[in-house]
Amino acid sequence: MKLGCIADDLTGATDLALMLAREGLRTTQTIGVPRADLDLSGADAVVVALKSRTISAQDAIDQSLAAAQALRKAGARNLFFKYCSTFDSTDEGNIGPVTEALLNLTSSDFTLACPAFPANGRTIYKGHLFVNGVPLHESSMKDHPLTPMRDSNLVRVLQRQTKLPVGLISYEDVEGGPDAIRAAFEREKAAGHRIVIVDALSDKHLRAIGLAAADFPLITGGSGVAMGLPAAYRRSAADASPSTERSFDAPAGRSIILAGSCSSATQRQVETAIEAGIPAFRLNPTELATRDVTAQTALDWLAGQDATGPVLIYSTATPEDVQAVQSKLGRMNAGEIVENTLAQIARTLPALGITRIIVAGGETSGAVVNALGVEALAIGPEIDPGVPWTRSLGGTDLALALKSGNFGAPDFFLKAWTMLR
Ligand code: ADP
Repeated sequence: MKLGCIADDLTGATDLALMLAREGLRTTQTIGVPRADLDLSGADAVVVALKSRTISAQDAIDQSLAAAQALRKAGARNLFFKYCSTFDSTDEGNIGPVTEALLNLTSSDFTLACPAFPANGRTIYKGHLFVNGVPLHESSMKDHPLTPMRDSNLVRVLQRQTKLPVGLISYEDVEGGPDAIRAAFEREKAAGHRIVIVDALSDKHLRAIGLAAADFPLITGGSGVAMGLPAAYRRSAADASPSTERSFDAPAGRSIILAGSCSSATQRQVETAIEAGIPAFRLNPTELATRDVTAQTALDWLAGQDATGPVLIYSTATPEDVQAVQSKLGRMNAGEIVENTLAQIARTLPALGITRIIVAGGETSGAVVNALGVEALAIGPEIDPGVPWTRSLGGTDLALALKSGNFGAPDFFLKAWTMLR
């Protein structure tokens, strides 16, 4: 394994895994710290998805170290600590404390911190992070409920989280390419800095930074900075090329879509699927709360459907409907009722011969993946930006597409199946 990655949340982990897979590394994502006997031998890169962004710094350190140790035991040569491209954190952490702990673990004295992701509008100039051209502290991140970001100077932000001296490599050095960046790393190290924020305004910058840092025992950043790493590892290993694969081996079996997202993209996808004639069953949270409808009602309906094409079970509703339900049942309670019902349905799918599953919704995906007991995912080709086909590893053999609510084109639920072999 060339690269062992630790991500501080689930969708961030998928984002990174997809980036590495697209650039030609065989990539596996695990849900939490992998069991010691999980076979990771086929992977060039493994991404461990934690949920450590907003937990206490000590818990984040403990979980990240456990993940790092598991990755090193499985053969990881280098480590990558992945956080959000908006540097989501508090003054206490967890980016600084986890970076310190991982530097200690790898017995190294220097690393970089680069959350830039220009393709998504996140750029760093003179150490200041911009979101679509707006300084971080003026972007919507200033009002984030858990990690409000009120300072766009990342040197200052990170310095508040760590005792290690933080430096800056600005874009003049980065413009000079990998050799100039390597020289700047040496200069900063000699100046006593242990972590450097690195400017990046373009993919060209990210690729140069990746090449310059590829041999570091520890790299930290967003998924953007991982863009240049596969090329560096390929050059030394000469064994892979960027993936252009558009089809994916999937287990034989029936297909289903479980939609628990109410985001506008999912609403359109549900409408498009129904218009195209996909049999659909709507879960209404009010009926679920009174138990007039249960998971079993949906499963009985499912048993009567044609087994040859995909079917759809959805709770997707308009903002007005969601609001009406929430005022009756409470926001969290309504969400939980739907998630639990979809999880119960998911649990019985393998026994019904349903092995190809699309899930719409971030929280919904977490609930379904847990219910199915999925421990790890091999990352396959991208269906639409940010959403790959994946195949479960370890337990029941499944093809899964876990779609964040607002991702994907209107015909996502129709076209995704055509990629499966
Ligand atoms: P997204 O990725 O679009 O944010 P999530 O699955 O993360 O989707 O979140 C959607 C939340 O809304 C879940 O907790 C889900 O259970 C809940 N939910 C789904 N359908 C309804 C509905 N009709 N009324 C109220 N809440 C719903």
